[in-house]
Amino acid sequence: MREPETAAGTDRKGGGGGRMLHFFFLGFVRIHILHHACEEPVYGTGIQEELARHGYRLSPGTLYPILHGLEERGYLESRSEVVDGKVRKYYLATTQGREALAKTKEKIRELVEEVLDGNRGRPHLDPPAAAAARAERHKD
Ligand SMILES: [Zn+2]
Repeated sequence: MREPETAAGTDRKGGGGGRMLHFFFLGFVRIHILHHACEEPVYGTGIQEELARHGYRLSPGTLYPILHGLEERGYLESRSEVVDGKVRKYYLATTQGREALAKTKEKIRELVEEVLDGNRGRPHLDPPAAAAARAERHKD
């Protein structure tokens, strides 16, 4: 199996930056896989290429445990097919996986609005305002 080059993706070893990106991007990768598996059956090298297209370069040693983890938790189900004389395992989202993606989409929207579009968080997440409100309540 082809070992993809590491780039700005998730497998870069050494250097806090690589590990930091790995830590955050793995969640994106799981959502990305789930998204595609809701649309059509996906398989290891196919999804690996799709993720690479988005700049996530995962080795099989990273990708396959993610697929297996999604299956173990009931978000994906797999079936094996023989393609060109080789067994290929296809993964498709389960009902639970589709529901999880729908809930995640709401969270993505909220996150994008706050992080990218700069919408203010709720007042209770604003420490100075919260502190001022507490001080006001405790005034005699
Ligand atoms: Zn994609």
